[in-house]
Amino acid sequence: MSLTVLMNAGPWLSVPPPGYGGIENVIATLVPELRRLGVRVVLASVGSSTLPVDEQISVFADGQFAALQRPYNQVCGIAQAHLAGVVRELHSRDDIDLVHDHVEAVGLATLAAMGPAGPPTLHTLHWDLAKHPALYGSLDGGDRVRVNGVSASQLARAPLALREHSVGHVHLSTPLAVDADRRPRPDKGEHLLILGRINPGKGQDVGARLAHRVGIPLVLAGPVGPYHRPADLAAAGDEARQNPDVRFFLDEVAPHVDGDLVRWVGTVAGQERDDLLASARASLFPLRWEEPGGTAVVESLALGTPVVATARGCLPELIEHGRTGLLTADEEELGDLVLAAELLDPDECRRVAAQRFTPAVMAQRYVELYERVRQSASAPRLLPA
Ligand code: UDP
Repeated sequence: MSLTVLMNAGPWLSVPPPGYGGIENVIATLVPELRRLGVRVVLASVGSSTLPVDEQISVFADGQFAALQRPYNQVCGIAQAHLAGVVRELHSRDDIDLVHDHVEAVGLATLAAMGPAGPPTLHTLHWDLAKHPALYGSLDGGDRVRVNGVSASQLARAPLALREHSVGHVHLSTPLAVDADRRPRPDKGEHLLILGRINPGKGQDVGARLAHRVGIPLVLAGPVGPYHRPADLAAAGDEARQNPDVRFFLDEVAPHVDGDLVRWVGTVAGQERDDLLASARASLFPLRWEEPGGTAVVESLALGTPVVATARGCLPELIEHGRTGLLTADEEELGDLVLAAELLDPDECRRVAAQRFTPAVMAQRYVELYERVRQSASAPRLLPA
């Protein structure tokens, strides 16, 4: 295939990311598969990115994520400076067939503003689409800027103007799904796991109360705001309470964390994360928000751990009730489902993951969407003289 894609990863983190980094992880998973399919990839990221690509362009040497702790008026130029660099690049060359953009809000706004001077563009919506109502409610991408979601349910709730620009959704994937059904079966422990950022939407307080009610050990893994380890949060003192996720943890979750039945282990990574997930009897998603994409959900299946969850957001699309997990609209029912999850077959979870959630499946779907975006861009691109 002869297609050159400018993959706009943005200025926040290197690709792959050094730690937590959802979007940068998706890009790191997608790009090798696209290149295997013959796509030439020009990565717009920070200089410290190490992902093998055909070409890289950068405005910043290193990830700018830490700056996001500062007030808006001190950081609002960062994404714009990165996008200005991308636009300069697009104006100076004619070999980019398509831009695949991942930069929240400013990527979409800037590339739409390029009008016919820009290449066909696919902007992936990785987040909650209730954000940015002014931008999404009035979007005009002309004939060349299109969007995709990470689940059908995410797009179904999007403002009309955004939905009119949609070419569909692409579910998230995980490298753990590759040959997931061929790995040896892991030994199961007794614990339940909630893997994810600790915040009200992910519902760790519901999970912690449930664990005490049914008497099953629960491990909470994930950061609390910017704090990745319990010791870091303890050392931060009262100042940490300025962060809403810290307040949620201290007020709603921590009272149930007894270090025995319910434990918070901080952020886990690499083999430690995979072992904790693979050995869990089930992973729990007691959601209070419409989960847009659910990477941790597909990771759980890939490691042979059934999912017990509230049926919100993308969960009903990713989980087949009774086969790979158990879903309920009623939070109170989660306790019963946790007990019933024992009847689900871990091998079935791994089989489904190996069929549906590999990076190759995701890349194939993106290539189809690239084609649709290019076809809808009817007018030729206006290149500078
Ligand atoms: N994660 C991790 N360690 C943790 C908690 C989470 O590596 O301690 C990873 C998790 O495995 C997943 C990502 O962080 O890959 C979270 O992505 P998801 O889409 O589930 O949730 P988001 O944070 O994007 O809402």
